Amino acid sequence: MHRSGATMAWNVFKFCTALRALGSIMILLVLGVVGVTYYAVVLNTYGPALYAGGFDFLVAFVVLILFHSLFCTALRALGSIMILLVLGVVGVTYYAVVLNTYGPALYAGGFDFLVAFVVLILFHSLLVMLLWSYFAAVFTDPGSVPPNWRPAIDEEIGEANPLVGSDLNNDVPSDSSHQRIRYCRKCNQVKPPRCHHCSLCGRCVLKMDHHCVWVVNCVGALNYKYFLLFLFYTFLETTLVTASLLPLFLAFFSDGEIPGSPGSLATTFLAFVLDLAFALSVLGFLIMHISLVASNTTTIEAYEKKTTPKWPYDLGRRKNFEQVFGMDKRYWFIPAYSEEDIRRMPALQGLDYPSKPDFNSQ
Ligand SMILES: [Zn+2]
Ligand SMILES: [Zn+2]
Repeated sequence: MHRSGATMAWNVFKFCTALRALGSIMILLVLGVVGVTYYAVVLNTYGPALYAGGFDFLVAFVVLILFHSLFCTALRALGSIMILLVLGVVGVTYYAVVLNTYGPALYAGGFDFLVAFVVLILFHSLLVMLLWSYFAAVFTDPGSVPPNWRPAIDEEIGEANPLVGSDLNNDVPSDSSHQRIRYCRKCNQVKPPRCHHCSLCGRCVLKMDHHCVWVVNCVGALNYKYFLLFLFYTFLETTLVTASLLPLFLAFFSDGEIPGSPGSLATTFLAFVLDLAFALSVLGFLIMHISLVASNTTTIEAYEKKTTPKWPYDLGRRKNFEQVFGMDKRYWFIPAYSEEDIRRMPALQGLDYPSKPDFNSQ
């Protein structure tokens, strides 16, 4: 029974990995938008105007200088380009939903007013939560190993530190069946349980989940919850946007006249496609991480687990959830922890994780 459960979880994992590939489509789309903008501004409009002479030449010259310097500044900040992408998608969506569609509908009165009011309230509250979680995930250190950290020695067994006298192998097995002292040769330090070395960050990260390009940061013990909330609110927001722009999107394929300038229609179209792609891609991530949280596993451990069926950290669904989100219900939906939770839950500091009480006796 245990084995079939593990196989099912693995299939969900594979399915979600495929769905996540949709994320790459978004990057291509945004690069496409950059290309189209470059074509429209430089190659089609102000480039040819350079040959016009007189005042037109002057305007074109100033615009092109400004455009290129902004373009290069944006490209130079390559590390932050994903943050710019996220903010760009938020900007396009905000323009399409608030400024172009439901903002003006507020003045319509009657039922249209009511719908617009509800959509705008939901849109703005989800946006605040989404951006708060996003920047919490970006700017929170995922957790690093304190200098000279040593694992606590089990005094009852009287076990000596197995590192003493050994030649510091990568994995030195100790007496206990599941606890091994692991050593990172790149950082020259002992690894706490569930800690992994990230080659992109160049350091060991506590309970490392994965290095995420969207948050330009490692996702680990201290920011995993914030990352999950970002996924959660992004899914709700993009689903709301997709649903609220659907009537406009369908109108593109009807024969009737659609009000609005070509520019605003194109933005609405783009916002719909981007948000739909995000909603589907994030749904894949979300399902995968729900199954990971339910079994108290990280993405890295899910790959490793194929060879080790017994999992010491699985404490049951409710406790597994609390190990990530804290025990205080008031903090479950915001990217923060109560001080009491941080004090009483060692897992939130990333160095020590409770394991199944019966695990050693098995
Ligand atoms: Zn390391
Ligand atoms: Zn990393």
